[in-house]
Amino acid sequence: MAETRHDAPEVSAVDSDRPPRVIPDQQSGLSTTNATDAEITTTVLAAVDRQLEHAIDLLGHLIAIPSTGGSEAEAEIQHVLAEILFSDGFDVDLWALDLPDLTSQPDFPGMEVTRREAFGLVAVLPGIAPELGLSLLVNGHADVVPAGDPNSWSGDPFTMRREEREGRETLLGRGTCDMKSGLVASIVAARALNSVGVKLAGDLMIAPVIGEEDGGLGTYALMRRGITADACLIPEPTDLDLIPANAGALTFRLRIPGRATHASRRTEGISAIENFNLVNAALVELETRRNSAVDPMMSRWPIAYPLSIGTIQAGDWASTVPDLLIAEGRYGVALGETAADARAELQTTIDEINASDAFLRAHPVTLEWWGGQFEPGVSGDDYLIDLTRRSHFVAAPNRRRLEVYGAPYGSDLRLIAPHMPVVQYGPGDARSAHSPDESIAVADLLSSMRAMALIYLEHCHIV
Ligand SMILES: [Zn+2]
Repeated sequence: MAETRHDAPEVSAVDSDRPPRVIPDQQSGLSTTNATDAEITTTVLAAVDRQLEHAIDLLGHLIAIPSTGGSEAEAEIQHVLAEILFSDGFDVDLWALDLPDLTSQPDFPGMEVTRREAFGLVAVLPGIAPELGLSLLVNGHADVVPAGDPNSWSGDPFTMRREEREGRETLLGRGTCDMKSGLVASIVAARALNSVGVKLAGDLMIAPVIGEEDGGLGTYALMRRGITADACLIPEPTDLDLIPANAGALTFRLRIPGRATHASRRTEGISAIENFNLVNAALVELETRRNSAVDPMMSRWPIAYPLSIGTIQAGDWASTVPDLLIAEGRYGVALGETAADARAELQTTIDEINASDAFLRAHPVTLEWWGGQFEPGVSGDDYLIDLTRRSHFVAAPNRRRLEVYGAPYGSDLRLIAPHMPVVQYGPGDARSAHSPDESIAVADLLSSMRAMALIYLEHCHIV
C-alpha cells in the first residue's frame, strides 16, 4: 500500500465545527447567509441539471478533435481546453513538455507513439479562503485511442451522434466513454457552481493530460512539475463505481528463433512458430499461477492479471519454414507487486523454456520490455472513498449502489498515488472504451456532473 496520507489542513471537509456555509447570491434566489446544506445541495444540483445541454455540446466539440496519441490533434486539444477553462475563470498554465528530458528519466513510464511536441495543462480556480477548504485536483486524459476500422462503426467516429440505444439516450463517438465525458463533467460541474454564485474556499484544479493511453507521459510530467493537492479525482469510465487501485501492465516483446529451410523438407528446419507454441503454453501456465490467489479487491475479475499476446509476426514466405517469430504482449502486474518482480518472473519462465530445448539453448528466446510500463497503484484513502460514495448517493439516488474495487488495467492513478490520495470515479462502462461505437449514456454523464459538483462543494468547501 502506498503511503498517501495528505497533510490536511486543520479544517477537514467533515468537520462539524467549520464556519456556516454562505452563498454569495447571484441568480440562486437563496438567502446569502442562511442557506442550509440541503438548500445549497438542491440549488447546485438544479444548476448542474440546467447545464446538461451545454455539456453535451462541449463533449461534441471535444470528440471532433481526433486527439489520438502522437497526433497534432493531441496537442491541439490541450490548447482548446486551455481556452475553455480560461473563459470559465480558471488561471491557466499551458506549457510545452520537455520531451528529451522527460523520456530520459530513469522512472519515465514509457511511450508507444512518436511525439514531436506535447503540452501540459493545469487550470486553477483559486479558492477564496484556502485555509477553510481543501484543494482538489481533477486529472483526466484528453488523448484517445485510434478509431480502428471505420467500417466497424455505424457512423464517423469523430462526429458525435445522439441516439437511443437499449432504451437509453446515448452519445456515440471515439472518446465519449474514455474519457472526454469525465473531463466535460469536471469542467461543467465547476461552471454550474459559478452559475449560482458559489465560490469554493479551497483551490480546484483541473489538469487535462495527454499520453495516458500509451504510458502516462502527461501525468508523469504533471507530477514532475510539482502539481499537488489534498486529493485527486480521476473521472475515468468506472461506470460510476469507485476504483482506488489499479493493477499494473507491462508491454513486452519476444523474439523466438527458428531455422529456415524449404517447406518441402521442413523436418530439417525448425519452425519459429512451433517454438512459439512451446513458449505460449508456458505463458498460459504462468498466467494461471499468477492468478491463483489475488487481492480481494480484484476477486470480481475472471483473470485479474492477464498475460495476453497482442501481435505476432513470423516468416517471410509461405513455403519457407520461418526462422523468426516476434510476439508482443501485455503482462499484468499484481497489486502489491513491483513491476521489477513481475518482470523477473516472466524472465525466469523464458529462461526455463530456453534451458529445456536443445535448439533454444543455442538460440535463446529473448524478452524485451518496451512501451507502456505501468506499475500497479493503490491509494485507498478512506476519507476520499467516503466523500465520493456520499456524493454519488445524493447525485444519483436511483442508480444501483456504488461498488468499490480494483481495476485490472493500468492507468495514471499509479503515477499520482505516491503524491496524494486518488480515486477513479467517472461515467461510462469501460467495456465500451476502445471499441467501435464507443458510447456514453446521457444519464450517466449527468450523474457524474452532479456528483462532481457535490464533491467540489464538500471537499473544497464554500464560505
Ligand atoms: Zn482512459
